[in-house]
Amino acid sequence: MPGSTYERSRGAERISWREFPAGKAVALSILDEQSAEGRQAQGQRLLDLLDEAAGLPPCKLTVVDRPQRHRTRGGRLELKTYGYYRIAWENRPQKGTIRIYNLTAIRQQVLAPKVFLETLLHEWVHHYDFTGLQLDRSPHTSGFFARIRDLAETLGVGFVTPPKREIGTGPLADDVLPPARDRLQPGGKPPPQWIKDQVLALFGQRRD
Ligand SMILES: [Zn+2]
Repeated sequence: MPGSTYERSRGAERISWREFPAGKAVALSILDEQSAEGRQAQGQRLLDLLDEAAGLPPCKLTVVDRPQRHRTRGGRLELKTYGYYRIAWENRPQKGTIRIYNLTAIRQQVLAPKVFLETLLHEWVHHYDFTGLQLDRSPHTSGFFARIRDLAETLGVGFVTPPKREIGTGPLADDVLPPARDRLQPGGKPPPQWIKDQVLALFGQRRD
């Protein structure tokens, strides 16, 4: 039933913890980091704490010193993402991957600390949706953004998230990549080439 994942995503406005996450100090320390290495190291510490506290499988963070991918139309920024999330269904236990670009798309400036942290929390909520809520996809519903706010407030960094987010406004790409390999669809239909190319470009070994 296609509507049910959406309804479940919309209905869960809080994160369910196994134990309260002791991540405040780490979350604040992330705001002091500028370099890709520093953000990756501190960001990974936070993800590990969150996964432990929520009883989730691990999620690996990579922060790359590259501008985010984007698309323009008529000179305007049409689509951009700061980061991506991907779940590896085939792994047992399941494993998530987060990739964040440390530079902005056009001006190639280092992401502002608040933007970096909000992106990290946003991508982790995708991890929570798949491995915690056990949803088969992770749409950007009002509940999804409520979970990000709840998470940020739990960590004492509520100021990184906007108080109310209008869904569908602003350049926001679909930042959840399809699972790797050719197992995209259970029916056995292989993914189209553009998805393979995108996954390879974002997560493969290829370097600029
Ligand atoms: Zn997202």
